[in-house]
Amino acid sequence: MPDKSRGLKRAKEIYQNRSQKAKELKAAGKKIIGYPCVYVPLEMLTALDLVPYRTCGDIKEPVTEADRALPTSFCPIMRTCLDCALKGWNDFLDGMVTVHSSDPQEKTARVWESYVNHPYFHFIDMPGTVRPEALEYFKNQLNDFRKTLESFTGKKLSPGKLKAAIESHNKQRALVKELYQLTKPAPPLISGTEIVQVIKALMSLPVTEGNELLSQVISEVKSRTDGPKKKPARLLIWSSTVDDSDIMAIFESEANVVMDESCGGIRPYRGRVKLTADPLDGLTDYYLNEITCARTFRQAVIGETKKDYKKDLQSRFGYLRDIIKKWNINGAILLLVRYCDPFAFEMPSLKDYLDNLGLPSTYIEYDYTVGALAPLRTRVEAFLETIS
Ligand code: SF4
Repeated sequence: MPDKSRGLKRAKEIYQNRSQKAKELKAAGKKIIGYPCVYVPLEMLTALDLVPYRTCGDIKEPVTEADRALPTSFCPIMRTCLDCALKGWNDFLDGMVTVHSSDPQEKTARVWESYVNHPYFHFIDMPGTVRPEALEYFKNQLNDFRKTLESFTGKKLSPGKLKAAIESHNKQRALVKELYQLTKPAPPLISGTEIVQVIKALMSLPVTEGNELLSQVISEVKSRTDGPKKKPARLLIWSSTVDDSDIMAIFESEANVVMDESCGGIRPYRGRVKLTADPLDGLTDYYLNEITCARTFRQAVIGETKKDYKKDLQSRFGYLRDIIKKWNINGAILLLVRYCDPFAFEMPSLKDYLDNLGLPSTYIEYDYTVGALAPLRTRVEAFLETIS
């Protein structure tokens, strides 16, 4: 009798030991390129047969080494990412691509480049708005990225190869969206905790292998009989990075998390890269326009001088309205990682937007350490009592 939950089990195994898989790929002759943020265009790595590997920190590992280079009042995610790198956890990497998606990311990239000796290192500067000039600038940045990749690999990044890579990654986006359709039923067929493990496993695999794993997980989940139990609350989690299933398990103590708007959840997969004559145009548009991270400044009308607050909220958070309706969400947790300015800036406006929709929400700040989990649980339980 075939093991019906092989896909979910495999995803969990990779989630629990991501570097193992990367080391096997390296032993098989692949080059592994690390990236800390989902604004890095992975298609450009895939097109040159490089394996993208998201470098993450570890909430259970006390930060020590990173104290040599970064202040304590600094993005805890970047601190733990660098700490793990300085402790040699990513020594199998052949290179690193970083991006100016936030100031802590930029500062950490500079330190990373000088402290960790990778054969290849590239930094993509990234504009903070979606104005036409910003798109032009970002495309030039991707062109520079193409050049350093070509000299590192000794291969040409042809439009044909890039288009094929875009199609594989678009397929992955479509599969992840299909996976999130399975959280619409009550109870959902897959838990938020399991989805965190699947997504993190994807960020450790070549795209084709990730798509195979996703297809397997989706077919298993559709026919499973051991799915999550129905809970009184159906939650939306809105945050920067939720990449540890222990954090998600706290939210799911008395609720079903049916949508995770973070870059450990649906954020990198919600859109689709348009296939353009020059594929870099499609990538530029997608990575600057489509990824809904708080770090990008959006206006209802580009260049407006007088702001209409309601229209402004709609332009920044309007994509959530449909999600809340279609996933029948009855509560939202706005989770802030301490010292994360872009998300801290968005929280009051997002709360206003959700209040206008009549959706109960709570704003919780924590510092991505094990010590923060117990108070986080207390805050979540208190909120759930108010909506259940
Ligand atoms: S929250 Fe935004 S800036 Fe931070 S890693 Fe995710 S996508 Fe990048």
